[in-house]
Amino acid sequence: MPTPGFEPSANVARLRESATIAVSQRAKALRAAGRAILDLGAGEPDFDTPAPIRESAKAAIDGGATRYTATQGTAELRAAIAAKASRRRGETIGPDEIVVSSGSKQSLFNACYCLFGPGDEVLVPTPAWTSYYEMVSLARATPVAVHGSPDHGFRVTPAMIERHATNRTRGLMLNSPVNPTGTVYSGAELRELLALAAARGWWVISDEIYLRIVYGGPAASSLDVAPARERLVVVDGVAKAFAMTGWRIGWSVAPPELTRAMTAFQSHTTFSASAPSQAAALAAVTGGPELDAAVAQMVARFRERRDAAMAILATEPAITLAPPEGAFYLFLRAPGAGRVRDAGTAFASLLLERFDVAVVPGAAFETPDWIRVSYATERAAVEEASRRIVAAYHEASRGL
Ligand code: PLP
Repeated sequence: MPTPGFEPSANVARLRESATIAVSQRAKALRAAGRAILDLGAGEPDFDTPAPIRESAKAAIDGGATRYTATQGTAELRAAIAAKASRRRGETIGPDEIVVSSGSKQSLFNACYCLFGPGDEVLVPTPAWTSYYEMVSLARATPVAVHGSPDHGFRVTPAMIERHATNRTRGLMLNSPVNPTGTVYSGAELRELLALAAARGWWVISDEIYLRIVYGGPAASSLDVAPARERLVVVDGVAKAFAMTGWRIGWSVAPPELTRAMTAFQSHTTFSASAPSQAAALAAVTGGPELDAAVAQMVARFRERRDAAMAILATEPAITLAPPEGAFYLFLRAPGAGRVRDAGTAFASLLLERFDVAVVPGAAFETPDWIRVSYATERAAVEEASRRIVAAYHEASRGL
């Protein structure tokens, strides 16, 4: 007798819902039910997309950009991305090495799916964005968490990576600036990790979606420092730096053979990314002084919020923070860490249910003693939420 109802296929039997998205949806539902929730869960800039980008999209729609494009993306957008990557790398990277997709998330998934399979292991410096573990698993490969030290912003070193390598290792996921810690790897640190991967013949997928959101000097790209590009996939997009999360445009820069496989794969799944959104992304990638100023202004706002939150959190000396130098997240050790199981989830629940503050439990990033606080929301909300986090910290610590 067949079992009635839905039985998940082997492909998704172990798939977990995205915890970061789940937190935001719960916050929205509580808001709809009348609770004044401060949402510091979402990894989404609260700014409007800069006007020149919106204008380009409107003009493109009126000019007929309403149809499918080539799977790989429009010739103009791929040329602009290739030109930018070539300048960065100091060598020619052609449009045949670019696939435009419906968000960097899709590019990351497509790369994992085309590169890894059953029996393969992929090293994931941890904590890391929740989706890396699931994407590698969806490709039926095994994600291997390599835990960095909280004393060094959770950075991983080549020695830590080597300790987790086996003869099944096929890949390494890199992300700098890091979601969820805000850590930024220096060029020298990145170069060492890339050199190790190159020496071992591993593929590196370098997720650079937060590259322009930094508070010190400019962040290094893998394109700047990789010894070779034979096994390097650089993924980027417009979502975060240009406040374009809803436009859904990302891309990969990868060797032509892999690019062909990723294009074929995408041709059977989602096909071309949205045509008006590609026109908008072209304006963002082409840039110019007005857009540079808009990005700089958004980064300055993020920095003010980060500093305001850190000043309030510093009033509680027991709060341990990984020092954030980029992206828009603070990563905090939860009260009871090391003594209570899954302290981050307990603290996130306390914050949501009793203090009306939504944050993401560290378990989503394979670090269950921590929580992630996003400051991509207005300053007053960030400050009020930080005060409540301090109050909740006191309350939770008393109960331990
Ligand atoms: N990579 C990281 C590290 C992220 O945090 C996110 C979004 O939260 C993405 C990729 C996805 O970005 P996109 O909107 O371009 O798909």
